[in-house]
Amino acid sequence: MSSKSEDRREHTCISCGINISGTDAAKFDCPECGTLIYRCSTCRKQSNLYECPDCGFTGP
Ligand SMILES: [Zn+2]
Ligand SMILES: [Zn+2]
Repeated sequence: MSSKSEDRREHTCISCGINISGTDAAKFDCPECGTLIYRCSTCRKQSNLYECPDCGFTGP
C-alpha cells in the first residue's frame, strides 16, 4: 500500500497566493459572509489588503 495519503487541502494566502500550509499563517472568517480566509504572516505584517473570493469584501 502507498504510505502517501494527501487528504488535507492545501491553503494559499488570500493576498499573495503562496502556499501557506505548514507556516504560521493567520486564519479568519470573512466579516461579510463568513468564508474562511488564510493569510501568510508576511502579508499580515505588511497589512496587505485581502479580497474575499466569495463576496468580494476587501479589508486590511
Ligand atoms: Zn501572503
Ligand atoms: Zn466574504
